[in-house]
Amino acid sequence: MGTTYIDGRWVDDADATLSVRSRAVNYGLGCFAGVRGYLADDNEQVYVFRLDRHIDRLSYQAKILYLAMPDPSSVHDTLLELLRKNDARYDVYIRPLLLHNSNELAPILDPATTTFVAYSMPLKRYLSDDAIDVCVSPWRRTSDNAIPSRAKPTGGYVNSALARKDAIDNGFAEAIMLTEAGKVSEGSAEHIFLVRDGALFSPPSTEDNLDGITRQSLISLATEDLGLEFVERPIGRTELYSADEIFLCGTGAEVTPVASVDRRLVGDGSGGSVSKMIQQHYEDVVRGRVEHRMGWLTPVW
Ligand code: PMP
Repeated sequence: MGTTYIDGRWVDDADATLSVRSRAVNYGLGCFAGVRGYLADDNEQVYVFRLDRHIDRLSYQAKILYLAMPDPSSVHDTLLELLRKNDARYDVYIRPLLLHNSNELAPILDPATTTFVAYSMPLKRYLSDDAIDVCVSPWRRTSDNAIPSRAKPTGGYVNSALARKDAIDNGFAEAIMLTEAGKVSEGSAEHIFLVRDGALFSPPSTEDNLDGITRQSLISLATEDLGLEFVERPIGRTELYSADEIFLCGTGAEVTPVASVDRRLVGDGSGGSVSKMIQQHYEDVVRGRVEHRMGWLTPVW
C-alpha cells in the first residue's frame, strides 16, 4: 500500500477514488504525464529525469484540454514529496493526472472541476531487455485534429490500447502506428528512430505523435555527445523494412532496439550497434554517470 496525492491531500492508494459518474471516467476527459526516477549507482540517491520538462508539457497539455494546471513549482514539490512519502529508493515511475472530475452528464471541459492526482510505483523495464519484434498496426494513429496526441489525453489511449492488443495477439511485442496519411507516427507509447548509413531519422510531432521528452533528449545525446547526424522528416512505411537499425524510445520504453518489423529482420535482428550505443549512453545519463547531463536530473534524497 502506498500514498497517493489527490487535491491537496495525501491518502492511502485505496482511498484515492473518483465517482463512477465522473466525466473523467465516463468520457476519458483528462490528461497525464509519465516521469521516471532512477536509482543511482550508490544505491541510495534517486534521480528524477527531466522533471521540469515533464511539468512544462503537462502545463500545455492542460491548456489544450481546458484543465486547471496547479502552479508548476508546487507540482515539482508535490512529485518529489510523493517519492519521499513512498520511500522510493528504487527505479520508480510517477504518474501525475489532471482530470475533469464533475458528475454532470454532458462531456463538458470546465477547468473549475479539475482534480489533480499523483501516484508512483516501482518500475524496471516496460518493454523487453532484448530487441523486440514489432508490427505495423492495422489501427491508424488518431489525428491530432481529432484527439490531440500532443496532449496525452487519457481517453486517447483507447487508440494505443487497440494497437497494442492487436500486436500482442499476433505475437508481436509492440505496434507501430501510421498516420491517416500512411506515414510512420509512433508506437503505442513510444517514439521511433530509424538508423540508415549511420544517421538517425525520426518523424516530427506533426505526424500525430506526442511531443516526446525522451525523443528530444536522445536527439541531444546523439548529436551533441555522440557526434551522430539526425534528420527529422516524415517516414514512409517501407523505410521500416529497409532501415539498418530501428529503436523505440519513451519514458517507459527507455531505448528499446527493434529486432524485426512485420517479420522482416532489421539488420541481423540483434539490435544494432548505433542503437546499443545510444541505449548505453541514455542509461549512463539517467543514472547520473554523465557529469555534463546532471542538469537533467533532480535528486530526490
Ligand atoms: N508516445 C506516446 C503515445 C506515449 O504515451 C509516450 C509516453 N509518454 C511516448 C510517446 C514517449 O514520450 P516521452 O518520451 O515523453 O515519455
